[in-house]
Amino acid sequence: INMSMNDKAPAWKEKAEGKTLSYGIINNKSITQQRAELPIARLKSELVDAFNNNQVLVVIGETGSGKTTQMTQYMHDMGLTKKGIVGCTQPRRVAALSVAKRVSEEFGCSLGAEVGYSIRFDDMTSPETIIKYMTDGMLMREYLADNDLKRYAALMLDEAHERTIHTDVLFGLLKDLLRRRPDLKLIVTSATLDAEKFSKYFFDCPIFTIPGRTYPVTVLYTKEPESDYLDAALITVMQIHLSEPAGDILVFLTGQEEIDTCCETLYTRMEALGDLAPELIILPVYSALPSEMQSRIFEPAPPGARKCVVATNIAEASLTIDGIYYVVDPGFCKQKAFNPKLGMDSLVVTPISQASARQRAGRAGRTGPGKCYRLYTEIAYKNEMISTNVPEIQRTNLGNVVLQLKAMGINDLLGFDFMDPPPVATMIQAMEGLYALGALDDEGLLTRLGRKMAEFPLEPNLSKMLLLSVDLGCSDEILTIVSLLSVDNPFYRPKDKQSAADARKAKFHQAEGDHLTLLQVYKGWEAAKFSNPWCFENFIQARAMKRSQDVRKQLVTIMDRYRLDIVSAGKNYKKVQMAITAGFFTNAAKKDPQEGYRTLVDNNIVYIHPSSALFNKNPEFLLYNELVLTTKEYMRNVMVIDPKWLVELAPAFYKKGDPNAMTKAKRMEKIEPLYDRFNPPDAWRLSR
Ligand code: ADP
Ligand code: MG
Repeated sequence: INMSMNDKAPAWKEKAEGKTLSYGIINNKSITQQRAELPIARLKSELVDAFNNNQVLVVIGETGSGKTTQMTQYMHDMGLTKKGIVGCTQPRRVAALSVAKRVSEEFGCSLGAEVGYSIRFDDMTSPETIIKYMTDGMLMREYLADNDLKRYAALMLDEAHERTIHTDVLFGLLKDLLRRRPDLKLIVTSATLDAEKFSKYFFDCPIFTIPGRTYPVTVLYTKEPESDYLDAALITVMQIHLSEPAGDILVFLTGQEEIDTCCETLYTRMEALGDLAPELIILPVYSALPSEMQSRIFEPAPPGARKCVVATNIAEASLTIDGIYYVVDPGFCKQKAFNPKLGMDSLVVTPISQASARQRAGRAGRTGPGKCYRLYTEIAYKNEMISTNVPEIQRTNLGNVVLQLKAMGINDLLGFDFMDPPPVATMIQAMEGLYALGALDDEGLLTRLGRKMAEFPLEPNLSKMLLLSVDLGCSDEILTIVSLLSVDNPFYRPKDKQSAADARKAKFHQAEGDHLTLLQVYKGWEAAKFSNPWCFENFIQARAMKRSQDVRKQLVTIMDRYRLDIVSAGKNYKKVQMAITAGFFTNAAKKDPQEGYRTLVDNNIVYIHPSSALFNKNPEFLLYNELVLTTKEYMRNVMVIDPKWLVELAPAFYKKGDPNAMTKAKRMEKIEPLYDRFNPPDAWRLSR
């Protein structure tokens, strides 16, 4: 065996005392038996009593104890579903879908019947549904339609410790609703740490603890920092596979691209070993993966083989995979973070918190005593990692949330009962953004346009673009473009066929830029009767296209509901460009005589992304959808614009404004009590 890669293997420093591992047999028990053996099962009657005796309950327990899959069914068993639906929120789409699938099997119904799920652009429920899993964002949208959530008898805010922006807003909304609806039950679940805080927030409600069934986990740190964590992770997996006793491996990486690369490399390395090594079943897990693929991760490996699951943060707490004995933790995750300089969110790879690291290690001790390989030093763990995660609401763009709260009639945002309030400057920036889009008026109240925008499950600039396209007579095209912008990049560029893929892509390129290029792809696919072979031939990801088609259908339903016309602009692409400008005028840039572009808002230097249809075309003015920071700040999805459109479509933003409009200072006095308490330095980017 050529094991030269072992030369680079990380040097390990063992932390806890090592224990000899003994292995349970991973088997296929009946579903009833599996349910009965979960740690939560013994506590069913105590839990039911607690549900009966309390309006709110915080439940804590180890991941895998059965909280998510069992408690909703217990509530059904105790008769709550006679009064209404039992709803359970999840921070992640995949978790909602996968858990609903499992519970429907346990319940003995088909998915979408008594047990269903609802995630953005995908509703798998029916009038029969009594147990419903959904993303926290979906429940927030339901609240928008019905402030009393009358359909629900009980709600479970699951994985509350994740502190997503939607869960945090739901905390406030539901706390208020509990006063109005004494019959509504609420359960908040968390992975231990914040339980006290949650209980305090929810009227000092009781905390119910489910004792976990966990085994000791030996933690190993690298002696030196690893410069390339991906490479170190790969080597570690091979090392475990070739030298450690039976037991599956779980590797934490940050995103799809990294996971795919890792799986490919592992596959090649295993292939090189041929029959010399036992079989390694390599399974990627991330949210964009089709669900058939995702259910494979729960299937036990056949005798003699070992499973290696390579996952994003989703496997930290949302999904429980049995049989894991080894965890490889490089110490990073991808997080959405608000970049004040760019005025928008971007996804950045960040070191995880100590709490996350502990949670990850815990995954190895579910079936028996396990090992966790940390690809960082103990010093880094102790001194460089923050202790717990920062709630999303304190680090991301609040545009959408502010719009939704306003649409719910909640105007005094400072008075809103946030568990941990977001920074005031971020709230003001969000309000200013919405004002510039025309969603809020001078006094910070929702405009008619803003109310309509809130109806769409889209970021404000996309919903603005869609609504304006109705007036401009190009909503047919914009619907397609918005749908494609809402899914993963449809262009497929395999490593060994890059130039062939690029040549194909170039055939779709439009002089106006990437948005119209996307439209061109969709038109081509449509002309080919939405065929898969067509996608394959053209290096287009069929899955992304299919998803965009689904998204499009959902958006059409909303358009129909509000009688918004769907009209085509035909060949008049200028209309399409103008609609896009109406949503993204803040992201305009002008060519710099020296190099690259300068953003009009901040005068930042930015560059056209090499994947763009406009790369090397360098028009005088353009706008972009997003900025990605790699070696440089790159603009992705760019489009040529005429600067006149900016003034025409966003006068409040680009012109001194009409004399009747309120001045900025006046607005500061009027909009919200926010300004009384906070004097923004130069968070203001208006009226230039
Ligand atoms: P918790 O919410 O406390 O972390 P869950 O209710 O999610 O626990 O999981 C309990 C058990 O149910 C897991 O240990 C696993 O065996 C099983 N399980 C959960 N989801 C699935 C699934 N999608 N497929 C197969 N088994 C699952
Ligand atoms: Mg759970």
